[in-house]
Amino acid sequence: MDIWKEYGLTKVINARGAATVLGAAKCSAPVRQAVADALTISVEMVDLQARVSRSIAAYSGAEAGCATGCTAAGIAVAAAACMTGDNLARIKELPRVEGLKHQFVIQKGHIIMAGETPIYQLVRMVGGHLLELGEAPDCGVYQLEDALDENTAAALYVLGGRAAGPGMIPPKRFIETCRKYQVPVIVDDASGMHVREMIAAGADLVTFSCQKWLRGPTAGLIAGRRDLAYACFLQENGIGRPMKVGKEGIIGAIEAIRQWQAQEWTRRKPQQQQMVTYMAQRLQGIPGVTVNAPRSAHSHSAGGVHIQVDPAITRIPVWEISRLLAEHNPVIKTHDYDFAHNRFSLDPIFLEEGEEVIICDALQRIFQEAAQGDGAAAGEEPPTRLDVVADIMRSWPQRESDFRARGI
Ligand SMILES: *Cc1c(COP(=O)(O)O)cnc(C)c1O
Repeated sequence: MDIWKEYGLTKVINARGAATVLGAAKCSAPVRQAVADALTISVEMVDLQARVSRSIAAYSGAEAGCATGCTAAGIAVAAAACMTGDNLARIKELPRVEGLKHQFVIQKGHIIMAGETPIYQLVRMVGGHLLELGEAPDCGVYQLEDALDENTAAALYVLGGRAAGPGMIPPKRFIETCRKYQVPVIVDDASGMHVREMIAAGADLVTFSCQKWLRGPTAGLIAGRRDLAYACFLQENGIGRPMKVGKEGIIGAIEAIRQWQAQEWTRRKPQQQQMVTYMAQRLQGIPGVTVNAPRSAHSHSAGGVHIQVDPAITRIPVWEISRLLAEHNPVIKTHDYDFAHNRFSLDPIFLEEGEEVIICDALQRIFQEAAQGDGAAAGEEPPTRLDVVADIMRSWPQRESDFRARGI
């Protein structure tokens, strides 16, 4: 079935990867089947949560685990668990935190968006108080040591591209320092690529996404200490209830971990590699465009195509290229977090056969037309990423009115 057509939606070619805003991962047939089957049964959710704990333990090397609605929910629930433990009376009182340890320490440079929700909001919504350490790009171990005290519920550490500045305390040193002061550490590894390593390094809870590289349905997974994983589950009787995951999400997660263990995701690698080679070759010769295709350290796909643009030559900056690709039919989404630096990349992991050709045709046309245009955008300052995201969100009224006009 053509789902886009069936529901009147705009088709998207996803060269970005497992972004939640693009509907996250495309799931394999066994995962889809598990989700569909799950929707036909009744089951005790406590039984499912205890079962997924075993899958998360096998995936991560941790004692236990818990599943939530998404990774952002996982961070909030993990923070709540570090304050209340398994005290159900206190769980039902959050965000009232009188008498509980409720300070959370974090390096200022780790205050990023968890998806589009800022990390500070996830801590505040459960009643936690966030203490930001250091300066935006820098933090010292001495500042962390000074901040840890008897009121500290946990320390937060965020892994991932935008939090990985060179001035941040490296994760193992951060965990080691917190352990010295017996303060639990929550690590956000939304990619899910370093969970085992972080657990082995002594992290108490690691939150990661089921719908990113694990390629499951939308859910957040938490791996860690058994007492804290249990305390995370118990939040479903309190503040965790609006953040819970359903039976299909949990069964889908169990199956996604199973597929991961069977290395199902490696099977498409040769095809992805061909796409990378094709796209790199086609974009190579464009004046002002530098292309390389290294093996990715951050992706489970067979690398990606990294593109650096010199707008003085192309007469078009990357933020304008992204805007034009968003107007293309189908919409084309690339990994363009660094558009202000005139860089973007194409990840093949969720590309269907033939989409690599459509992307290259569109890019070639954009560069050709820019070469003949007035180059006005190349002389402008780029918009900020937050303003671009805001514009996307604010397109809702226009889209809703378009659906109405089409009689949908
Ligand atoms: C994607 C992401 C999240 C949020 O994941 P959701 O499951 O969409 O809530 C949190 N932190 C980081 C670093 C991410 O990349």
